[in-house]
Amino acid sequence: MTSTIDPVIVARDLRKTYGDIKAVDGISFEVKRGEVFGMLGPNGAGKTTTVEILEGMRDADSGDAIINGINVKDDPRGVKSIIGVQLQQNAFFDNLRLAEIIDLYAKLYEAKVDPIELLSRVGLEARKNGKYAQLSGGQKQRLSIAVALVNDPVILFLDEPTTGLDPQARRQLWALVRDIRSNGSTIMLTTHYMEEAEELCDRIAVVEDGKIIALDTPGNLIDQLLATGFRPEKRIREATLDDVFLNLTGRDLRD
Ligand code: ATP
Repeated sequence: MTSTIDPVIVARDLRKTYGDIKAVDGISFEVKRGEVFGMLGPNGAGKTTTVEILEGMRDADSGDAIINGINVKDDPRGVKSIIGVQLQQNAFFDNLRLAEIIDLYAKLYEAKVDPIELLSRVGLEARKNGKYAQLSGGQKQRLSIAVALVNDPVILFLDEPTTGLDPQARRQLWALVRDIRSNGSTIMLTTHYMEEAEELCDRIAVVEDGKIIALDTPGNLIDQLLATGFRPEKRIREATLDDVFLNLTGRDLRD
């Protein structure tokens, strides 16, 4: 892996307007090396726009996005070579075998990887000769993460990685994210699942109307809310419906 500079992500007063819409309205934050950093917020809050500016996929109107010491404006290709981006599902060829898909992306990045080893890291080694079109939703998500890892990225960007997955597949993906983090990568993710943010993220930025309205660890954000005297309306039960589902259907993946 490329040597890393801390903080590995710096967003400095990023702004992006579409007509009258201020999609990103002065966003600043830093992500430390090895952190899992989450971005939460309602639909249209500006999360994807912010992340795409950091990835060098979209130009900001003003402000600086600095990835591992490289200003995205100055060297978008340099940034792309050290980050991993989870591609949307339609980015893959239906009729290629999984090992061939990994090989193809490795060639694009001029990266030396063993496709079987990478597939085994995401729990898909048994499917190496299977085709993309034959995979379940959870398997497709895991393959897209494997592809994002071909260049051994300094930062992995995950945009709503578990949307549409069942509870078992979601937990398996969480385990994969933790495994990637333990190998030294920094991870930036967006999610609409609060449980996911609480499970995975070291720190969270809550975004609304293009601005960060809170930024802290999940524990501190909860403590700050409780310190205002807030108490949930319903007494929270000690188990959730998620627990019921997992107890009925088991924790093992079906796919
Ligand atoms: P979601 O949770 O729904 O994915 P988001 O927080 O990622 O939302 P963005 O996709 O960043 O939000 O969008 C922020 C705002 O910018 C929205 O009002 C959206 O309609 C607008 N927007 C995003 N991309 C464009 C575009 N290419 N042209 C015009 N407006 C856009």
